Amino acid sequence: MGITLASPSRLASLDGRVPTVATLCSHSSLQIFHGARSEGLPTLGICVGAPPRFYDAFPLARPDRFLSVPNVKELAGAVSRLRSEGAVLVPHGSFVEYVGAEAFAELDVPVFGNRAVLAWESDRRKERDWLESAGVPMPQLFEDRSEIRGPVIVKYYGAKGGKGFFLAKNREALEDFHATGPHVIQEYVLGTRYYIHFFYSPLVDRGYRVGHGSLELLGMDRRDEANIDELYKLGAQEELFRAGIRPTFVVTGNVPVILRESLLPKAFEVGARIVERSIELFGGMVGPFCVEGIMTEDLEFKVFEISTRIVAGTNLFISGSPYSDLIEPGLSTGRRIAREIKQAQAQGRLAEVLS
Ligand code: AMP
Repeated sequence: MGITLASPSRLASLDGRVPTVATLCSHSSLQIFHGARSEGLPTLGICVGAPPRFYDAFPLARPDRFLSVPNVKELAGAVSRLRSEGAVLVPHGSFVEYVGAEAFAELDVPVFGNRAVLAWESDRRKERDWLESAGVPMPQLFEDRSEIRGPVIVKYYGAKGGKGFFLAKNREALEDFHATGPHVIQEYVLGTRYYIHFFYSPLVDRGYRVGHGSLELLGMDRRDEANIDELYKLGAQEELFRAGIRPTFVVTGNVPVILRESLLPKAFEVGARIVERSIELFGGMVGPFCVEGIMTEDLEFKVFEISTRIVAGTNLFISGSPYSDLIEPGLSTGRRIAREIKQAQAQGRLAEVLS
């Protein structure tokens, strides 16, 4: 048996019934509903106001029912309705962002995965403690500017889409920079970005074993980020600044990537360390998560961020990825989530995958 994440009272709304997969109509909801439907689970779309029309265009991903709320921030007011529907909330980036990590963690509705992870992910310092203590290489942090030897990135806390991040080619270029809020100064890592989609199951006792369960690699993407990209644009900074153009990292889409096969052991090692440390720190991270890092020319993978739930890059792989196809043809992250809920219920182990 693994670690219990949910109390019996939290899960009482699911007693003797098929769980309904519920999420906010945004981000990766098409994939989540499509995956649940493929596994035969009912689905509930949470929306603000009228149901979004775009679902009509995708009949295989349209939720069975909708729950309309006046404002996402008021989701707490819909808790009894969600419980009476037998809902299991599947968190995704926009869902947690709009509700707020703290408010989300307090909702008295079963949530897929360990909600304790939200506090670790939403605070950049806690996240760094977690990853560093797991032995995961990260970009160097500079408390003292005199230690800066190369390019750096200045990141504001809570900056949406990296808005206002500042890049400096060297220490001198930082001299004219005056921060307008709480921030960190980090080594700007030169290399290639990879966003690696993992899934940790505490139920599966075969495959790539980690803790009591198994670590699966379901896909990989790179984000298209407007209006900055890689080293060559760092070189053009001064001209861009003179032209009044400031770099941002607003995500506008995603492209599929794969890693050199010889680098896969490194990817798994990083994923495994993060899961193992999460088990020690807060009872474990269950379900999908994304390790976001940069592979340098020395083939060192430096992790700048982790997303502890389904990321939108997995939408590339609704009908499978070059990795998930080697587990089961056509397996998406959305379907994998529904499968985990179903299997946990069949084995009487819902408390290990829901919280
Ligand atoms: P974040 O808000 O940490 O997800 O960063 C947003 C974007 O900034 C990332 O997707 C990367 O493109 C870029 N980035 C963040 N940290 C670094 C770093 N240390 N070195 C190079 N690029 C970075």
